[in-house]
Amino acid sequence: MNEYRAWFQCLDDECGEEYNLDEVIYRCRKCDNLLEVVHDINLLHKRTPQEWKALFDDRYRRQVWPYGSSVWGKKEWVCPYVEDKNVVSMYEGATNLFWAERFGKQIKIEDLWIKMCGNSHTGSFKDLGMTVLVSVVKQMIADGKKIPAVACASTGDTSAALAAYCASAGIPAVVVLPKDKVSVAQLVQPISNGALVLSIDTDFDGCMEMVQKITTEHNIYLANSINSLRIEGQKTISIELCQQFDWEVPDWVIIPGGNLGNISALGKGFLIMLELGLIDRLPRLVCAQARNANPLYLSYLKGFKEFHPVKAKKTLASAIQIGNPVSVNKAIKILKMFDGIVEQASEEELSDSAALVDRTGTFNCPHTGVAIAVFLKLNQRRLFKPNDRIILVSTAHGLKFVEFKIGYHRDEIKGVSSKYANMPIELPNDYKAVKDAIFNRIENLEN
Ligand SMILES: *Cc1c(COP(=O)(O)O)cnc(C)c1O
Ligand SMILES: [Zn+2]
Repeated sequence: MNEYRAWFQCLDDECGEEYNLDEVIYRCRKCDNLLEVVHDINLLHKRTPQEWKALFDDRYRRQVWPYGSSVWGKKEWVCPYVEDKNVVSMYEGATNLFWAERFGKQIKIEDLWIKMCGNSHTGSFKDLGMTVLVSVVKQMIADGKKIPAVACASTGDTSAALAAYCASAGIPAVVVLPKDKVSVAQLVQPISNGALVLSIDTDFDGCMEMVQKITTEHNIYLANSINSLRIEGQKTISIELCQQFDWEVPDWVIIPGGNLGNISALGKGFLIMLELGLIDRLPRLVCAQARNANPLYLSYLKGFKEFHPVKAKKTLASAIQIGNPVSVNKAIKILKMFDGIVEQASEEELSDSAALVDRTGTFNCPHTGVAIAVFLKLNQRRLFKPNDRIILVSTAHGLKFVEFKIGYHRDEIKGVSSKYANMPIELPNDYKAVKDAIFNRIENLEN
């Protein structure tokens, strides 16, 4: 594996400072810019596009450790530095690409797909990046570095992933959560995996500041997506999307964005495929934000000429309730390259959209609801051509957000009128009452 090489590099092209992957560093020491992982592309060019495709396809969903994971199946492009024996994996990726046939028919878009990233070990796409980050930490510890713990601030899903991977590797995890702002399922995950869970009386942005301070001043390793190792794992979403279409490129990918690591990762995955010749064009990308936490949308309206953090208001899409996204510069760079669009969704739009599509067989989290709502808006604007292939990225499993789901169906969410509510009908233990209830609802039943 050492025939391939990757390193951290300053995002500022003029600075371009480089650092080893086993350094504990998140920002450039020279200019304070974000870092990204850069691969030695000349070494990767030693395989032809056909050889890469064949290699990735050969490993996909098989059992040879650790390559059956769709992240580690692309190890040469992701993190060649980690030895196989130090990989901490729960078989990430290779998630279902669901053909949204029934939903698509309702709106006359045939080639519509939902990438089910929530069908994963901890129930969100965060596993894709966390496997890489925790594997690097395990490698560093094996090489004799002193790393007493790994820490993150989280809107819920990052902490669940960090806690699970650290528990599996036997590395202490510290998670810092905004008090009362994550779902019960999200809270119970790090608790169960034995992490030190700190519930702080602030919002996500406050937690992020706290964690950045403690990890800068002490040798605790920072697991937030400012750490670009996570982006390397997450970029396999785009590689996998093409792979699942026999290496064809979709026309549009719509993804919800909060801290903006995932939209950056998505772009990075397409760019490396283009550079290495596996694909010959790029899709257009759409970043979907909640109206209550929309700093990127506001910047988009001004042509990305300026960016101002906002104070994020409460949103049902709690994982993207972020006003000061750390990866904003990466995201804007990517959106400019992909002729990108940013659109927003209100609380009612995201709730109704999630519920509408639930009725066609998926079980959507509120963030996926944001992506669907934005898709519907753009469709109304007639942005898509009838034959366009469109992907909606579903970021988490709906089961992590049952309070949101049941609140919707009980019509208890303030400001949301729950157009698609579907509550159980309570009945006495009486045959006729049951029969009447069924006949009232189901058509074409015969007496
Ligand atoms: C983290 C997360 C997001 C947002 O991803 P960013 O990289 O922060 O933009 C969206 N949806 C879910 C479910 C998440 O956990
Ligand atoms: Zn720099």
